[in-house]
Amino acid sequence: MNRPENLKQLQDSTKIWDIAVIGGGSSGLGVALDAISRGLSVVLFDKSDFAKGTSSRSTKLVHGGVRYLAQGDVGLVFEALKERGKLLQNAPHLAHDQPFIIPIYTWKDRMMYSVGLKVYDWMSGRLSLGKSEFISIEETLKRLPGLKAEGLYGGVVYHDGQFDDARLALNLAQSADEAGTCVLNYVSVTSLVKNEAGKLTGLRVSDKLSKEKYVVNAKMVVNATGVFADKILQMDNPEASRMIQPSQGIHLVLDLDFLGGKDALMIPETKDGRVLFAVPWHGKLVVGTTDTLREKPKLEPEALQKEIDFVLETAAGYLAKVPTRADVKSVFAGLRPLARPKEGSTKTKEISRSHKVILSDSGLVTLTGGKWTTFRKMGEDTVEYFTKVTGEKLKESKSLDMKIHGATNHVPAGHWGIYGFDAKPIQDLTKENKAWEEKLHPEFPNIEAEVIWAVREEMAVKVEDVLARRIRMLFLDAQAAIDTAPTVAKLMATEMGKEVEWIESELADFNRTASKYLIKK
Ligand SMILES: Cc1cc2nc3c(=O)[nH]c(=O)nc-3n(C[C@H](O)[C@H](O)[C@H](O)COP(=O)(O)OP(=O)(O)OC[C@H]3O[C@@H](n4cnc5c(N)ncnc54)[C@H](O)[C@@H]3O)c2cc1C
Repeated sequence: MNRPENLKQLQDSTKIWDIAVIGGGSSGLGVALDAISRGLSVVLFDKSDFAKGTSSRSTKLVHGGVRYLAQGDVGLVFEALKERGKLLQNAPHLAHDQPFIIPIYTWKDRMMYSVGLKVYDWMSGRLSLGKSEFISIEETLKRLPGLKAEGLYGGVVYHDGQFDDARLALNLAQSADEAGTCVLNYVSVTSLVKNEAGKLTGLRVSDKLSKEKYVVNAKMVVNATGVFADKILQMDNPEASRMIQPSQGIHLVLDLDFLGGKDALMIPETKDGRVLFAVPWHGKLVVGTTDTLREKPKLEPEALQKEIDFVLETAAGYLAKVPTRADVKSVFAGLRPLARPKEGSTKTKEISRSHKVILSDSGLVTLTGGKWTTFRKMGEDTVEYFTKVTGEKLKESKSLDMKIHGATNHVPAGHWGIYGFDAKPIQDLTKENKAWEEKLHPEFPNIEAEVIWAVREEMAVKVEDVLARRIRMLFLDAQAAIDTAPTVAKLMATEMGKEVEWIESELADFNRTASKYLIKK
């Protein structure tokens, strides 16, 4: 992905794109992927980096949603299980089978979860990742050595998927770019352009790095801005009432030995009636999440002290070694774009988590809700509106079987796995400069060549792009990321031809953001 080259495409003021997508999170990228599978021309903008919003802050599960099954949302679970199976086939370098263990304390729970998860297995049909089963106390403790033994009756194992969310977003952007989509990060949509009949004909955008402005023509405009959807809806119609209710979920990242094995822990019912996961991810343990209503959408939401306490207290009920604030390596918060509840109600968990596509009078198509797992289907359902908006015929969607950038049957070992077929060319960069073999941080496997690659091939333009979303160090260990930032800034400056002032301002920016991922001891 070459940002200057893609920006050049915006200079042609006569060009009319089939679809312009606002938002480079899972929703917008799903739309782009499906649109290119039908041969449409697409331009996609994100006002920040790809997946800077909610799409880098998920629990990292590709799942049907055991919780939604318990709530009786069978249609959503069927759909998500199909998408889960397909994603593991289309991006095997980023998404894999993850066994989960539910600790069981009573005979009644054994029956309930065993039966419920058999139904979940059955619903995934041919795309099943493995059978659920009851395991003994000994087996449960062998697989989850960090689990408290007290009162344990056994465990129920079931299978779901796990992935790297921000890397998937990037690889989707690369797939779209390779198929001719003009994808751009740090380009903000500032207003919508309409004709005399009040129908949308395009967008005004601004490059946040050069401050250059452009007008872009498009037959259909998609609002895929997650928790920011209301802002675009109000650009379209200043009278539009608010649709989105942000609901925050946080995760704490601990050392893996708090749980101890390769399996994940699923706590099916917390004090507030939710589910809590503790999932191994890139050598650490991600524990979460919460569900806290927030008033305003934010790109960098912050965890509340009471949310941190809640996650630590809940985890302490299950883990033999009790985690404290001092053990937290990183904390990250994300906002769910839930549908605003009716006047007087605040119960977001009762609102359906399925996605919605809304067509405004002007022709603006807004995609909202849903989840990462179903991003492709969400894209397909949105692109289906093309005929209604433009009157033009639409080819059949082929996105269900599209391989995503990096996909390979021979996933490289170790941390190179997430790069898929790009691992080798990244390693080859060290032939150009042997110094790039150097590790970025003694406790992380990543090497300097990965920073060069991120700049050259993955449209990284800020230190945060590299440390938060190209390699995930900020999410895994915020202090390690802060310590690594000067090295990353220098490497990027040399590669991008930037001066010392750029390094200073980037480090100030990065440290300001990264401090939010550290928690007070
Ligand atoms: C705590 C938590 C845990 C979750 N866990 C899971 C999980 O394990 N599995 C799962 O399947 N799903 C999960 N989800 C759901 C999933 O993460 C979200 O549904 C998904 O990431 C939403 O993506 P999005 O593209 O709609 O929004 P976002 O990722 O927020 O993307 C919107 C983008 O729009 C851009 N934007 C906004 N305004 C403009 C503008 N004017 N111009 C240009 N760009 C603009 C923003 O910069 C942003 O990048 C979780 C969600 C949360 C909050």
